[in-house]
Amino acid sequence: MKKLAKFLRPFRMPIIFVLLLVFLQTLSDLYLPTLMSDIIDNGVVNGDIPYIWKIGGFMLLVAAGGMICSILASFFSAKAATGFGRDLRERVFSQVETFSQTEFDQLSTASLITRTTNDIMQVQNVFMMMLRIMLMAPMMAIGGIIMALSKDTKLSLIFVVILPMLAGTIFLIARKGIPLFKEIQKKIDNVNRVLREKLIGVRVIRSFNRVGYEEKRFDQANSDLTETTIKVNKIMAAMMPVMMLILNFSSIAIVWFGGLRIDQGSMEVGDLMAFIQYAMQIMFSLIMVSMMFVMIPRAQVSAVRINEILTMESVIKNPENSKRATQQKGYVEFQNVTFYYPGAESPAISHINFEAKPGEITAIIGGTGSGKSTLLNLIPRFYDVTDGKILVDGIDIRDWDLEELRGKIGFVPQKNSLFTGTIADNLRFGKEDATEAELKRAIDIAQATEFIQEMKKGLNTEIAQGGTNVSGGQKQRLAIARAIIRKPEIYLFDDSFSALDFKTDAKLRAALKGETKEATVFIVAQRVSTVMDADRIIVLDEGKIAGVGKHRELLQTCEVYHEIVSSQLSEEEIG
Ligand code: ADP
Ligand code: MG
Repeated sequence: MKKLAKFLRPFRMPIIFVLLLVFLQTLSDLYLPTLMSDIIDNGVVNGDIPYIWKIGGFMLLVAAGGMICSILASFFSAKAATGFGRDLRERVFSQVETFSQTEFDQLSTASLITRTTNDIMQVQNVFMMMLRIMLMAPMMAIGGIIMALSKDTKLSLIFVVILPMLAGTIFLIARKGIPLFKEIQKKIDNVNRVLREKLIGVRVIRSFNRVGYEEKRFDQANSDLTETTIKVNKIMAAMMPVMMLILNFSSIAIVWFGGLRIDQGSMEVGDLMAFIQYAMQIMFSLIMVSMMFVMIPRAQVSAVRINEILTMESVIKNPENSKRATQQKGYVEFQNVTFYYPGAESPAISHINFEAKPGEITAIIGGTGSGKSTLLNLIPRFYDVTDGKILVDGIDIRDWDLEELRGKIGFVPQKNSLFTGTIADNLRFGKEDATEAELKRAIDIAQATEFIQEMKKGLNTEIAQGGTNVSGGQKQRLAIARAIIRKPEIYLFDDSFSALDFKTDAKLRAALKGETKEATVFIVAQRVSTVMDADRIIVLDEGKIAGVGKHRELLQTCEVYHEIVSSQLSEEEIG
């Protein structure tokens, strides 16, 4: 909680207003019963009509003032709380943006979403409640007791019996309720996780006829949450009648003993009525405090979860003294690079050595799981190497400014993501201020012009969430165009031609050749035809280099390469 408090600083003024307003409102609430007893004891008993009008009018004024304060307090507390929530969400979001792949793997996406929405909402709501209750409840309780004592000290002895009873009940209820409230937050996480998985995989679930099974899984998480919530609400529901019972019995007791004291002539009727109201105020403030004690632990769980994000630091940090670029452009060198995924027992790639220069095409081929994507992902520093070094333009990539390093790279990932927005918006991810002509050129090279023209709105066609309204091959070409627009020094194509037919693949690569004359190009591919004419082919096998060289050399020297080739081409084609 403490760490989140600094987000309250900008809202100092509204918070002070609320406290002031609540203070005034409580004063008016405490003053009203006294005015009433005045009217009864001095006005009604003596039949003094002008006095009743005068004090009655004053009462109205005080009540109206209290009401205005209460309305304004609502306004300012809402303003402070929602502003606090907004700032916190913003901070959490920008923190998540700095995370590297490692942190994403660690906290799940579902949990990140719950934390940014529901958890912040919890904290925000409790903060709003606290603003209003924190001052009002103790002030009302203490003020009420003082006022009651001033009306009749002896009758006040009755509180010695009532208050411990009330406090005891609250304690019993809170002890049962608080752990349950803590549980609820975890269960919401669970429901979100199942729901997210289900929605993302909805096509797979349907095609494998797992709808029934998934429904059961969701039902389980859902009813688990429901049961806990119902349990909590049952306890809270039981609280109200019990409280009312105590409250009402207290009034009876006060009227009973007060009546006796009026008979003795030691108390007046108006005072007794005021006394009852003070008793109510005292007890209500106790109930309010107890509600707070129930809400705070729940918000505390949320606060801890939010804090976890805020204090989590990306393992990939921008170097403090980044080195400046040299004259070189697009040189990439791997020096004995080994990489383990966090927690993995064996390395995904090990002892990788090679050098790539501008104007060269380096192809990487190998079976699935041989570490091809891993190798490419290391270049933009999505992960840091475990051992060895990667140099770009002669400088260790860990010494590069991250933004500058990534600015040199045009990356077409294996799993392409397009974003909601038009095709043009998506392409401009590569370069924000790209002109129409640049867009046209890029889609031309990427062989995307034809299918874009066939769409009614051309470049202004909307892409659905996750790019579900374009085919796999169309998506790949858009992602390629997005990288081309950047005019990067280093191109990384991770299996980017796999969904294209052979003809389009060949045409695209021919067009690319002209575009990438001065760039360093990495192409990961499964098809031999895609990599055959590369300047250098790296054959990966279980994370190790099985061979490096040109197609002809590798055919002779590399067993693994020969196997891959003969599984795809006929003897004549191999020649
Ligand atoms: P390729 O692209 O050649 O098919 P990858 O580079 O994707 O292979 O994967 C290489 C190895 O690393 C595989 O054994 C895979 O299980 C493992 N791996 C890939 N991504 C992760 C990850 N995020 N966390 C842990 N292990 C991973
Ligand atoms: Mg891969």
